[in-house]
Amino acid sequence: MIYSDFNGIKISSLGYGCMRFPEIDGMINKEETFKLIDYALENGINYFDTGYSYHSGTSEIVLGEALARHKRDSYFIATKYPGHQLFRNYDPKLFFEEQLKKCGVDFFDFYLLHNICESSWPVYTSEKWGVVDYFAEQKRAGRIKHLGFSCHAEPELLEEILERYGEHLEFCQIQFNYLDYTLQRAKEKYEILQRYNKPIWVMEPLRGGKLARLLPEQENKLKALRPDDSIASWSFRWLQQHSGVKVVLSGMTTMEALQENINTFSTEKPLSDDENALLYEIAESLKSSVPCTKCRYCCAECPKGLNIPMLIQAYNDINVQFSWTPAMMIDTLPDDKRPSACIGCGRCMRACPQKIKIPEVLRKLNEKLKVSPSWMQASREREHIAEEMRTHLE
Ligand code: SF4
Ligand code: SF4
Repeated sequence: MIYSDFNGIKISSLGYGCMRFPEIDGMINKEETFKLIDYALENGINYFDTGYSYHSGTSEIVLGEALARHKRDSYFIATKYPGHQLFRNYDPKLFFEEQLKKCGVDFFDFYLLHNICESSWPVYTSEKWGVVDYFAEQKRAGRIKHLGFSCHAEPELLEEILERYGEHLEFCQIQFNYLDYTLQRAKEKYEILQRYNKPIWVMEPLRGGKLARLLPEQENKLKALRPDDSIASWSFRWLQQHSGVKVVLSGMTTMEALQENINTFSTEKPLSDDENALLYEIAESLKSSVPCTKCRYCCAECPKGLNIPMLIQAYNDINVQFSWTPAMMIDTLPDDKRPSACIGCGRCMRACPQKIKIPEVLRKLNEKLKVSPSWMQASREREHIAEEMRTHLE
């Protein structure tokens, strides 16, 4: 196992993401999960990342039980404050005390503010809840060893977060892979974090599995260059060449996936320039995106004041594969700024140098959103489950 140095401690470069444990009858299969966690520990993985709402709130409990069978100093446990979800009460103390209890620990090695983004920013900056101050205090008290945050925000807000709270936040978890490098502006986010000297934890290295299964002709090209390597390993090799990346999280559901990833993370095999070029070529074909250059000429013409390039970016993103990032972003918009507000007047098209059929793109985006899960709805369901669980724990 390759290890990263973080403030003098050794963290396995491969971290165990705990939102995709094996299930049986809709519940976590504890027996199988315990086997996976034991195997991970025996083979050098020492970082386990859970979250308040993973597996409807049961991931923290099962992970805590599994790790309690091992020495407390043989692993690092990380979880997150769910300020990005819709709750009526965001009292950080309420969540933190509950999480310690659920995980069966008296301190967290790593604790993250979950998904600071455009929609959750009001929660994280609220004077009423005092979220960052509270967790900074817990860190001073030794109940959190390292405080960080995960982030799906646009680069502009990421920079604002770092300006405002950077002194308290030691590391940042972002969605980073060779597809989102340009699709979700991850390159810009990486560069900002490097500039602010914040080590990077990576989530969704395979984009929910999308990058582990490519088209046969794409896989053949990769296999021709590295016959013995899995398709998924290319994503990990791409990440290994970024020195700012310290931990790569992977949600491993099967023993086979766990063993394969451990094997990949036993060595560093940097990609050549030609291999990188091939990955970027594959990324471009995966996007098959609307070629908006974000010049904003169209915006000046739109009588509805729609942020057209932002909506096109969301369309491109959802078109590759459903992802919560654009869904959450659109949920933050008022009704008269959503794609459904387009009246099809066509004024934007006349201004667009790329000749993009903007009303058609917005119509298609609207259709996709109608059949996609809503972030608000998902959050409400999670809040309901959380309230039930809290009652059960009391
Ligand atoms: S077609 Fe839609 S997006 Fe374009 S200018 Fe008219 S209202 Fe705005
Ligand atoms: S004018 Fe065309 S290329 Fe420019 S931002 Fe609008 S849609 Fe994109």
